[in-house]
Amino acid sequence: MLSVEEALKKYWGYDSFLPLQKKAMDCVIGGQDSIVVLSTGGGKSLCYQAPAVVMSGMAVVISPLISLMKDQVDALAECGVPAARFESTQSLKERDAVISQIYKKTLKLLYLSPERIVSDSFVELLRKTGISLIAVDEAHCVSMWGHDFRPEYRELGFLKDAFPNIAIHAYTATATEHVRRDIARQLCLDNPEVLLGSFDRPNLIYRVERRTDKLNQVCTVLDRHKGETGIIYCIRRADVDELSFKLADRGYRVAPYHAGMTDDDRKRNQDLFIEEKIDIIVATIAFGMGIDKSNVRYVIHTGMSKSLEHYQQESGRAGRDGLEAECCMFCSGSDYVTWKTILQNMEPEANNIALSKLSRMYEYCTGVVCRHGAILSYFGQNLNKNNCAACDVCLGDLDCMEDSLVTSQKILSCVIRLGERFGADYTASVLIGSCEQRVMASGHNELSTYGILSDSKKSITRDWIEQLVTQDYIKKTEEYNVLKVTEKGWRLLKGEETPRLLRPAKKRAKVPKPAKDSWENVNRGLFEVLRNLRRVIANKRGVPAYIVFSDVTLRDMARRKPSTASDFLKVSGVGLKKEEQYGTTFLNAIKKYCLGNSIEMKKG
Ligand code: ADP
Repeated sequence: MLSVEEALKKYWGYDSFLPLQKKAMDCVIGGQDSIVVLSTGGGKSLCYQAPAVVMSGMAVVISPLISLMKDQVDALAECGVPAARFESTQSLKERDAVISQIYKKTLKLLYLSPERIVSDSFVELLRKTGISLIAVDEAHCVSMWGHDFRPEYRELGFLKDAFPNIAIHAYTATATEHVRRDIARQLCLDNPEVLLGSFDRPNLIYRVERRTDKLNQVCTVLDRHKGETGIIYCIRRADVDELSFKLADRGYRVAPYHAGMTDDDRKRNQDLFIEEKIDIIVATIAFGMGIDKSNVRYVIHTGMSKSLEHYQQESGRAGRDGLEAECCMFCSGSDYVTWKTILQNMEPEANNIALSKLSRMYEYCTGVVCRHGAILSYFGQNLNKNNCAACDVCLGDLDCMEDSLVTSQKILSCVIRLGERFGADYTASVLIGSCEQRVMASGHNELSTYGILSDSKKSITRDWIEQLVTQDYIKKTEEYNVLKVTEKGWRLLKGEETPRLLRPAKKRAKVPKPAKDSWENVNRGLFEVLRNLRRVIANKRGVPAYIVFSDVTLRDMARRKPSTASDFLKVSGVGLKKEEQYGTTFLNAIKKYCLGNSIEMKKG
């Protein structure tokens, strides 16, 4: 029997494990139920795929989406691992072929939808032929507390009974403790090993900006990523149509995607994106689940997400390959109101949960603490460093005000003068000395704090109030979010606390620099040549480009410049099958480029 290390090298071309992968694989090999929570790009698939290859028999993988299954099966085939999917969109002939492979025991992995595995006849078939393990992908779908609840996943509890001697392994990227407990209970796992990786995605650079001039703000990001692939999320369909039209008009290679389009149009645009015939997809959150594209270099949100789980999921589609990627959110207080309106049709209990998640999201947007730290703390983890060097706050993109204390004291004084009976918007109006009718009518223009921040814009004053809320100097209470000064706030009034107030930088922020330079020693010209070659091959073969080789692999090729088959095999992500299939083509391209540009290649 091959060891998992050997399988990793032979089939996937990797020399080492990513964090927790080995432990997760040990559970699978040892037949111990497990719940594995690794962030996107953490390498979850390999946790069950590599053991499946070395164990005898066939593994069953439950996956919520056909596109996901197809992607995984295609990727496995590229690596030389016999795998198949069985689902409703396949022809009868295709499905018969899969059944016959199951009987002949030639498959190492079989991907199924939750609906399929609950059918009696299928269970019978699998019981007869035998299986090695069960992997449940996107396992948070079993929980109503997760962000993608799928009722069909609830049925999966029967698996333990149906296959009593087979271990079940659940994989997810997002799971609060609540969701984890739900997964264990719903899947009837037997004392599962819980492997919890860090939720941090250090290669993602998070930035939040107040939305002022959406189109230009978006274009500034796009221009930092010329020719690279990215996703732009909008809250509403109309915004998707409008923005994608305007971007196309400016010459960007872009297409829209939302649930109001026909299935055919959506599919066409999604394919254009995956096949890299366009660079940018502008979409509602209907887009993304099942998109495994690993080289998305940026995700832009033109409005606030409805929860941090959603934001983590959506922004997490960037940089799955571990290379640096940028996640920008342009938001405004009006997004909060938009979501509140959209969410009000829910059942009261669900609505309360959704609103509390929305508030946490809003706190993130207006917050002044490290974004990596803020996201981690939401998921109950700590970032064990003071400066992440990968968010607008830590990179110093935002100006910290020198007179934060005095400004904060002015704001808190105003809250008190207003008898702690008003919300943020009204308080901001009083602070800037607005002549709005409601202020005048209530006589608040007579207060000593009226107009005390008249040099500032209302939007900025409003932001500061939110920043003081996230730092716990003010709290919002009751139904109407009335502001009250906290104990910590009273200390601030006495000058015993040091608050932080930020304002948007006047200068354009520098292009954020990742901590680790993944371009080190990479010949960019050669990388582009290889990228084009990959695109041509992928199109010819009808598979997504990243399935042929990931960006990481192409960069490693353009770094090492191999000249022989054995050097080519040393490139990270090149296993035996890929060397056999693509080695000569890529080696020739590398040789041609190096000769043409008088660059030294690696000697054999
Ligand atoms: P997830 O499902 O957790 O989002 P994937 O399984 O898609 O992550 O893996 C993310 C990327 O990391 C893929 O390109 C995969 O090939 C790569 N990868 C997985 N395991 C390793 C490893 N041990 N060494 C290097 N790259 C790896």
